[in-house]
Amino acid sequence: MKVTRELFDQVMVPNYNPAQMIPVKGEGSRVWDQDGNEYIDFAGGIAVNALGHCHPELVAALNEQGGKLWHLSNVFTNEPAIRLAKKLTDLTFADRVYFANSGAEANEAALKLARRYALDHYGEHKDQIISFKQGFHGRTFFTVTVGGQAAYSDGFGPKPGAVDHVDYNDLDALAELISDRTCAVMMEPLQGEGGIISPTMEFVQGVRELCDKHNALLIFDEVQAGVGRTGHLYAYMGLGVTPDILTTAKSLGGGFPIGAMLTTETIAASLKPGTHGSTYGGNPLACAVAERVLDIVNSPEVLSGVLAKEQLFREKLGEINQKYHVFSEIRGKGMLLGCALNEDYKGRARDFMMAATEQHLMCLVAGANVIRFAPSLVIPDEDILEGLKRFEKAISSVVNA
Ligand SMILES: *Cc1c(COP(=O)(O)O)cnc(C)c1O
Repeated sequence: MKVTRELFDQVMVPNYNPAQMIPVKGEGSRVWDQDGNEYIDFAGGIAVNALGHCHPELVAALNEQGGKLWHLSNVFTNEPAIRLAKKLTDLTFADRVYFANSGAEANEAALKLARRYALDHYGEHKDQIISFKQGFHGRTFFTVTVGGQAAYSDGFGPKPGAVDHVDYNDLDALAELISDRTCAVMMEPLQGEGGIISPTMEFVQGVRELCDKHNALLIFDEVQAGVGRTGHLYAYMGLGVTPDILTTAKSLGGGFPIGAMLTTETIAASLKPGTHGSTYGGNPLACAVAERVLDIVNSPEVLSGVLAKEQLFREKLGEINQKYHVFSEIRGKGMLLGCALNEDYKGRARDFMMAATEQHLMCLVAGANVIRFAPSLVIPDEDILEGLKRFEKAISSVVNA
């Protein structure tokens, strides 16, 4: 059967609009399409392929587990899941782990746990969840409602209730809204989809203090920012604030679907037998791969490499901007960077992304005004330089069009 992009439109639900080329093979930070064209990958599967494509050690972990045991369900446990949970608890504030298959599912578990914990300890009145405008937490109905873009959650009937939003980095607005009725505050420690927005230190620390004052749980959604992306294993480690619940997915599996919710022993106690679950959560294949990802990412070389690569990106992007004057700001942290377009190019991020694909560079957008890069944490410097050469050509083609 000849597989074409036209066939996509004939057989798929139309919720996505992928690029015209179809990738068939990847290695490190390079990808090849059906016609053998080579691309540099600055998209990283949307902050997922933390170690690039087909990293030999991940392929080995997958093959090894694939020959042993694929799936059991949670009626039986398995060695890779227990080992991965042990590592996650050793490396973070958490004492307990719940495994899911995606970021949305990890967040769904976090929100349900927060509600149940509040009910167990304070009573039914404590049900308010506060989150931030432009935030993104997934596409299940609960998580998308907590996310801060009504455009994503409208049009599906009645939404889960007691969810309120305030502006990110606006501590006064949060202080105004939060009360003893608040059961949890959910935030990204670096907003990804919303436009690569970093929190100020005062803001995150202030959020923590307000949560403590009102006995509200602080949930950090590190689905995009976690697993080395900011140069810290988890972003909270660079912010001087510890959440009560943390969710992680995307880079955790390096491309194999997995998500996890991490929390303390006391809070975890509210997820009693039967309260929540998942058929695939803690699947041995996913956990075996994630265990290798974590071992490799959590090394001083990889984590300091992320910050060195960020410097290289910033330096070269600065040079490009000197020539073309398209960005108002380069923002983000580590290997999660955003080029914010200035007034002259407002709303045109997608044009730049499409021009980049034409120059054989894969990148992303974060909203209409930001071009986003979320490459592999171990992308070779040569690939960064070559990718940015292609990016410059793309910029030039848009600017001179
Ligand atoms: C991608 C993302 C999610 C959703 O993850 P899925 O695996 O697509 O369900 C949730 N939160 C954040 C911050 C994300 O970036």
